[in-house]
Amino acid sequence: MTGCYIHIPFCARKCSYCDFHFSTNHSYQDKMVNSLCMELEMRAKTWNAEIFQTIYFGGGTPSVLTASQLEKLIGKVKAYYRVDDSVEITLECNPDDCSLENLENWKKLGVNRLSIGIQSFNDEQLKWMNRSHKAADSLNAVQNAKQVGFDELSLDLMYGLPNMTPEEWKAQLLQIIALNPEHVSAYCLTVEQKTALSKWVNEGKLVVSTNEQQSEQFEMLVSTLGAAGYEQYEISNFARNGHYSAHNTSYWKGAKYLGIGPSAHGYDQVERYWNQANNKSYMADLENGKLPETREILSSFDQFNETLMIGLRTKWGVSKQQLFKMLSPDEEWFKIVKEYEDKNLLVQTEENIALTAKGRLLADGIAADLFLIASS
Ligand code: SF4
Repeated sequence: MTGCYIHIPFCARKCSYCDFHFSTNHSYQDKMVNSLCMELEMRAKTWNAEIFQTIYFGGGTPSVLTASQLEKLIGKVKAYYRVDDSVEITLECNPDDCSLENLENWKKLGVNRLSIGIQSFNDEQLKWMNRSHKAADSLNAVQNAKQVGFDELSLDLMYGLPNMTPEEWKAQLLQIIALNPEHVSAYCLTVEQKTALSKWVNEGKLVVSTNEQQSEQFEMLVSTLGAAGYEQYEISNFARNGHYSAHNTSYWKGAKYLGIGPSAHGYDQVERYWNQANNKSYMADLENGKLPETREILSSFDQFNETLMIGLRTKWGVSKQQLFKMLSPDEEWFKIVKEYEDKNLLVQTEENIALTAKGRLLADGIAADLFLIASS
């Protein structure tokens, strides 16, 4: 599997908790699309042995692109790269962009999976988050998407929101289930530095949930979606009947991915590159015929630890063969694995190591205990 990620660095407005890379100035959207096309062209030579099974438009808010901008980008990917006939093309979208007209255009262009950023069905929560949509827009978006014939819908929800009671969270989950999507992603609100949210929290104007409340809500998430037939195939991702995100799954399994756009990164299983997270300098570099990137070769320790951390978040766990190709752990490492196994937090077979449902609650801590550190 090889995936192509395209970062669209524009949003209708700045959500109060967000530290992603984007701009709310849309005046140079056309120019940016031209730059993205230039980057696609410049990277094509080094990726011509690959067949791309997924194209993922993330952001930012890709649904702010016009149909002709999106058409241009998809056309260039297909012109410069080898793309599988059954490619999964995902578009992240805001509910208020999901008009029948937009949805019909996206479908015609070959988009076959939508990831809709609902986040909450509570208008009060959406208001302090400074989201551009209301709860009613989310309901319309899902209805419109189904009417247009999208049958791969992923809905995003957030928990750990200020003042969120267990009853409210349960009601939100039941609303998501009632919409009957194939896929649900649920993320805990985190307070990122330099956001309006962190300012309010530091000034005592907003109180975020405690770790205990977050854990309770996480457990409710897993049990409520589980009872409705959604399989937790990654810590924050749930799918019915195997409707996994092919793009994210290949990333979690350590596949190669091409990253295009400001702040995007790519990985070819040896080297990783990071694009500049600044729209103006990203475009200037490309105009000067230069890739706007920094490259790093991952050490075996970095590769081992990243593969372990990402793999343990998934239901498949991590392949021992893949891991031990990077480094051979000592006896102490196997002792720690065994201790977690005895506590019923981890299971291992000849081929694999995976966390149990209980272990997934502690995934980051367990992964950190199993990291290998280079001796200095
Ligand atoms: S729409 Fe998404 S990327 Fe844009 S500001 Fe809001 S959370 Fe951030």
